[in-house]
Amino acid sequence: MAAAPSQLGGTPVLILKEGTQRTRGSEARRTNIMVARIIAETLRTTLGPRGMDKMLVDSLGDVTITNDGVTILKEMDIEHPVGKMIVEVAKTQESEVGDGTTTAVVLAGELLKRAEELLEQEVHATIIAKGYRLAAEKAREFLKEMAHEISPQDEEMLRKVAVMAMTGKGAEKAKEHLAEIVVKAVQRVREDGEVDRDLIKIEKKAGGGIEDTQLVDGIVIDKERVHPGMPRKVKDARIALLRCALEVKKTEVDAKINITAPDQLQAFMEEEERMLQRMVEKIKASGASVVLCQKGIDDLAQHFLAKEGIFAVRRVKQSDMKKLARATGARVVTSIDDLSSDDLGYAGVVEEVKIGEDELVFVRECRDPKSVTILVRGGSEHVVNEAERAIEDAIGVVAAALRCGKVVAGAGAPEVEVARRLREYAVTVGGREQLAIEAFADALEVIPRALAENAGLDPIDVLVELRKAHEKSPDYGYDVTSNELKDTFKAGLVTPVNVKTQAISSASEVAVMILRIDDIIAAGKLEKEEEEKPEMPSMPEF
Ligand code: ADP
Ligand code: MG
Repeated sequence: MAAAPSQLGGTPVLILKEGTQRTRGSEARRTNIMVARIIAETLRTTLGPRGMDKMLVDSLGDVTITNDGVTILKEMDIEHPVGKMIVEVAKTQESEVGDGTTTAVVLAGELLKRAEELLEQEVHATIIAKGYRLAAEKAREFLKEMAHEISPQDEEMLRKVAVMAMTGKGAEKAKEHLAEIVVKAVQRVREDGEVDRDLIKIEKKAGGGIEDTQLVDGIVIDKERVHPGMPRKVKDARIALLRCALEVKKTEVDAKINITAPDQLQAFMEEEERMLQRMVEKIKASGASVVLCQKGIDDLAQHFLAKEGIFAVRRVKQSDMKKLARATGARVVTSIDDLSSDDLGYAGVVEEVKIGEDELVFVRECRDPKSVTILVRGGSEHVVNEAERAIEDAIGVVAAALRCGKVVAGAGAPEVEVARRLREYAVTVGGREQLAIEAFADALEVIPRALAENAGLDPIDVLVELRKAHEKSPDYGYDVTSNELKDTFKAGLVTPVNVKTQAISSASEVAVMILRIDDIIAAGKLEKEEEEKPEMPSMPEF
């Protein structure tokens, strides 16, 4: 509907700019809900260990094959504003807890679907919003009640959490191996209970198999040593981290040097050489056997370093410098003149290794490294990328588990249990809100239904069995890999409780936000660059 000019005593008053689109009332709501539902439906088939993957091809023809909710949404490049809100839900979920992105989006879609049914029964959007808010709050409470405490030292449990986050992803077959690596990595960088994900570097190299993925007690840099005359491997390395270039500074202003005699040129070059030599001597005097430099290293300096048997790498990324400092205990030095032996870090081995086609520098066997690297391998670029996403999810959930210290059983168990308790709670609230809370409970059960559907099972049968089991125990889930109903906590299918509480919070918040919109006013698109080029001046006729 185009923006209609309002009438005031016969004179049309134009409030909005020309080209503004306006949609109001139930039509606006219906469109918004539809958008959210379509996106949720798209992700639904990827949910769970038996979920399918999506192949996404971007405008440049690059292919991504993934099962990861947030990656799918990012690659889909969604235009619609409500679609963008849904994408935000997934992104928040990812950054807060590292997993549960598909769950959050599918849940948001289902909440809106149920809300639409209530709207058709003349329940007002405000009432639904209120009921949903009450339900979400209660749901979070119930989840915390149901959760089991875990200790940060319980690596067995943390590994289970990591495995669970990786199920259904491309890394499926090596998940036990990867889980072990992830838990070790997280434990290494953990400080005061906090895990800074940036301190775990993920370096990818296609080739080998996923099972060749390894944890390096230190940092892997995607660079080569600068000079073939340098040793390939240095043991008991003392490492200098430099932020400055090993070059003779060029003047800021353009200077011209007039050289009138050949010996002047000679003297000039010798002076430069002496300056570089002095820098290398400084490094040697500090006791360093390895130099990792964020800036450039002059050819001549490379030669001098090689002559001294010092291993050097140039143009190391700034982000890697920070990690190297944490891993080796070195201090990053900004001027060669300040370098002393106190600034040096330590690594048992620094070496250049050929992996696949490329040379990498390994700084490993660090003592108690506070930053580590996971070197991801896999049969192809796509496999490595999907493995990386799985590892990132696993790092996120292990960190989340450590942060909240509680896990819940998975495989549909928490959703069915929370739904059951919400139905009991709804009765105590009464009124029309009761309907909304019951709708919320029904919506939660979309998760076990989708898990069953994706595994080719009958969702109704599964749900009925689950509900029955929950009359006795809150930990019953339906394991779709072995096709049986079981106590999924005992079976080790566990998720940090904050993955679930976050999914419920963000899904219900976005659903409420979308429900409350009854008017969409969209500015007209900016005109494309002037459509028609001014005509070429016509040739004069003769
Ligand atoms: P998300 O992006 O939401 O994490 P996933 O595709 O990773 O989506 O699926 C997660 C869901 O799969 C969770 O609800 C989890 O409980 C469930 N799940 C994991 N393993 C199993 C299993 N063996 N049987 C049934 N459900 C499982
Ligand atoms: Mg997951």
